Parts: sequence; C-alpha cells; structure tokens
Amino acid sequence: MAGFRSLARQVRDPGSDTALRRYSLRKCLERFAPYGHRATWDHLCRSHGFGPEDREADPGRLVAALDELEEARAVWLAYEEEFAERRRREKHGGLRRPGALDEWHRRIWGGNGVARCDDPARHPQEPLPEVLERLVAALKRGPGEHCPVCAGPRIEWRAELRDEPWFGPVCEDCGVLIPRAVLTPRALARTRGDAQPRLASVA
Ligand SMILES: [Zn+2]
Repeated sequence: MAGFRSLARQVRDPGSDTALRRYSLRKCLERFAPYGHRATWDHLCRSHGFGPEDREADPGRLVAALDELEEARAVWLAYEEEFAERRRREKHGGLRRPGALDEWHRRIWGGNGVARCDDPARHPQEPLPEVLERLVAALKRGPGEHCPVCAGPRIEWRAELRDEPWFGPVCEDCGVLIPRAVLTPRALARTRGDAQPRLASVA
C-alpha cells in the first residue's frame, strides 16, 4: 500500500493524467484526513474550488489542496513525536500509567480522524493547518471549557455517530468531535446535560 509521500509525489507529477492525480489525492486521505475521509475531502474541494466528482479538476488546484493537507500533517506529526517522546520519558521514570489521552492517541495515531466530523458537509472553515495548530495548543494547555477549534460553547454529547465506534462531545458550531481530554470534567458533564442536579418531577 502506497504511503502518503509517494501518493503526494503522484499528485504533483505533471506527467500523470489529471484523473490519476486526483485519485492519488483522494488516496492521501486514507493516510491522513483530520476530519475523516469524506469531510476532509469536502473541505479540500470547497477551499480549492473543484467538485467532489470532478475528474478534470485543474491540477494546480489539486496541488494547492495537497499543500494544505501536507502542512496540516506536518503540524500533527510534530506534535505526535513530541507526545511519544514525553511518554517515553515518563514511562522510563515510572511517572505515570497510560490514561484516556493515551488511548485516544492510539486510536488516531498518524492524525487520521483527529478532529472527526460526523456530517461530511459540516466542518471548520479555516485552513487545516490552522485547525490542527489550535487543537495541538489545546492538547498542550490541558482541559478547557470550550471547543478547542472554534472556541464555541455549544457542545453536545452524541452517543451515536455515523462512523461507529465514534461517540462523544461534538461542537455544535464547527462540527468536530472533541477529544475528551481537552474538556474539563465540568464541561463534559454539561455536554451530557447533568451539570445541574436533576429536579424531582412535579407531575
Ligand atoms: Zn467548534
């Protein structure tokens, strides 16, 4: 199976026909798609002005989309490397046992689905590297009250998403599934609607 870099070379290859270059760009999303495959494709199509099924797309646009994807991937991989190094040091020093954040990292290792969007047409508008920077900053900062991507306060717990086995807190503003580790216990409780003590029924 071709890796991200060799697929990226195919996208940039002026000797290849456009349909193949477009196909290779889509294949890149099997290696790295921060919003999940379909939502990331939708984002790239909209941002760079080609249709999702456009087999005659301007190669310049395909390459610009690849540039954006690649830059976002570099942001994420740099963070993962840092994270892995920190965990190695901690493990070596016997400082901590793996927790929920480690489990999350294991599932999205490589950055695929790191900010999953359940609805392929609903995702952040900003360039992908910007979104990844914000997410990385939140992961480094520790738990907060709002969406790490758009800072929106409207977060709702979704027990069932289209792409099982994914579930959890989803931002109602930008559409991303938020890693639980970047939300405080209070914010998480609020998403589940149990922040306030339940009132006895008056009926
Ligand atoms: Zn958001």
